[in-house]
Amino acid sequence: MDRVGKSYPGGVHALRDVSLTITEGELLAIVGPSGSGKSTLLHIMGLLDRPTGGSVLIHGQDSVRLSDRELSALRGRALGFVFQQFHLMDGMSATDNVATGLMYAGVPARRRRALAREALARVGLADRAGHLPHQLSGGQKQRVAIARALVNRPALVLADEPTGALDSRNGEAVMELMRELHAQGTTTAIITHDRELADSLPRQVEILDGRVRRDSARPDGPHGDGPSGDDSSTGPTATTGGLV
Ligand code: ADP
Ligand code: MG
Repeated sequence: MDRVGKSYPGGVHALRDVSLTITEGELLAIVGPSGSGKSTLLHIMGLLDRPTGGSVLIHGQDSVRLSDRELSALRGRALGFVFQQFHLMDGMSATDNVATGLMYAGVPARRRRALAREALARVGLADRAGHLPHQLSGGQKQRVAIARALVNRPALVLADEPTGALDSRNGEAVMELMRELHAQGTTTAIITHDRELADSLPRQVEILDGRVRRDSARPDGPHGDGPSGDDSSTGPTATTGGLV
């Protein structure tokens, strides 16, 4: 993301001048209090919404110039999503829910179901493949959602408060799964308001009032133009120009 802004009608500036690069193989937290702009950031990073300024690049391709149809295709190919409320289809088995993650991939139906069963096995749910969402626990539902996010082997998985609707034991199990999948090569960004959870991940990007206030991967980098003296960790800046 290069100097991304997002304003909503009525003058809400949900994001201001956000620059952020995610590199293949990373596991990072995007952390901030409620209302700081995290979900807006996820929607824009995830090509679910367009910024009102700046650009979003995926594999160097500027998505701003793409049509809605091209945007959907790129999203389907490159990104996987996990949401707090799982967003599973009620009348569909776990397998069919996961198979919807391949809708844009041009995979024949039979192959979709085989890949879906493989993804369910990866999240430890091989024995629940035929269950409907209401026959699964919260933790299991989130595992199905994670399998759906992974089934297309996306370049990046975006998870918005993935443990937010779970009790602490199931939340920890879901985090453990996400760490395991990262160790197997899945690039993952976890959006959270939970400081402790964020600190347990290799990189933290802190969002406050729609700006990047701190990025542990850029200890000396610029983090927007907040009030002076507001952030003593922001030293003199020496950027390399463009995206860093
Ligand atoms: P977070 O996920 O960190 O809680 P959000 O990204 O949901 O924060 O919201 C950031 C700010 O943008 C908030 O002030 C919120 O009220 C505002 N906002 C979010 N979505 C919309 C919208 N569709 N229309 C107007 N304002 C919005
Ligand atoms: Mg949110």
